[in-house]
Amino acid sequence: MRTSEAMMNPIVLNKAVHLLKQSKRPLIISHPRPDGDTIGSTLALRLALVYLGKSPVVACVHPIPEMLSYLPGVKTFVSSIPEDIDPVTPATQHTSGVDLVVAVDMSDLERTGGIYQETRHGQLSLLVIDHHETNDEFGDVNLVDPTAAATALLMAELIEALGITIDTDIATCLLTGIITDTRGLRTTNTTPAVLSFVARMIEAGGDYLSVVQKTLDSVTYWQMRAWGIALNRLQLHNGVAWTTLPIAEKQQLGIEDHADLGFSNFLSRIAEANISVSFLEMNDGTVKVSMRARPGYNVAWIAKELGGGGHRQAAGCSIPGPLSVASERVLPYVFQEAQEKS
Ligand code: AMP
Ligand code: MN
Ligand code: MN
Repeated sequence: MRTSEAMMNPIVLNKAVHLLKQSKRPLIISHPRPDGDTIGSTLALRLALVYLGKSPVVACVHPIPEMLSYLPGVKTFVSSIPEDIDPVTPATQHTSGVDLVVAVDMSDLERTGGIYQETRHGQLSLLVIDHHETNDEFGDVNLVDPTAAATALLMAELIEALGITIDTDIATCLLTGIITDTRGLRTTNTTPAVLSFVARMIEAGGDYLSVVQKTLDSVTYWQMRAWGIALNRLQLHNGVAWTTLPIAEKQQLGIEDHADLGFSNFLSRIAEANISVSFLEMNDGTVKVSMRARPGYNVAWIAKELGGGGHRQAAGCSIPGPLSVASERVLPYVFQEAQEKS
């Protein structure tokens, strides 16, 4: 008998299974600036549906990071929906359009990055599979459990409820989700059940070593150079560490907007900081804010307040620039949160 890692509402789970079983061509969407959980969970579901004889389409508005290129099926991602599978106007009678939308690891509809379009997809059922505390239950069926350490755990339950045995490839995808979202099994929600889940995925043939080495222990040279520049600007005050990366510097290093520099997780290791924040300037003048909090501190509410979302220990948002305006807007909230607990 295996331990159940996620407490899933059986009625909601049944509804999700029903939607997927009825669908021939579900559109599965990962969030922008994709991480290991949104991509790993999406690809795991894709494989399960392929095994069931379906033709899922996987989409993400941004390119998939190089460090995730080992994932089975990663090349099947599209960044927009090809016209011949448009749900409204399938170009040929031989091709059926997408008939269901699945949003993976995202807390609101905006996080599809524009792939979901009301005019094209509004009439389709929307299934949400997510674990963000800030999830606003935007789907018709919401398989949402904020206590789950990663969407990958919920996806495992769903895949098994679909009657599919987790094989080597699915296990590698799901391992990627849990290992990256817990930053290598280091977050507060790394429970014994999470460790059992990891063990079960390794038993199923998941490539644990590759997952750990490729997602946690590999930083590109340019990424490391960007860290260097941001570290030069690092500040620390009253338990808050923060830094900025201006667009000019990013451009000089050839770093594109969609790249997740992994910098916030690096900053979160500063011993004196209860909360750390990075401000990355984007090409369109907006600023991507990434926050990390030590256990006992909560940055989810700050991100939500500013139009973003996330978890207590890791949250983010995008707000108007320039960098100085963005930091002056965010830091008072952060100091308030850091101060309340100190
Ligand atoms: P990041 O700082 O980008 O690594 O994100 C930390 C967490 O916050 C992740 O779970 C993200 O999915 C979530 N998050 C980041 N940005 C946003 C946003 N603009 N809206 C909603 N959730 C976000
Ligand atoms: Mn994510
Ligand atoms: Mn996640």
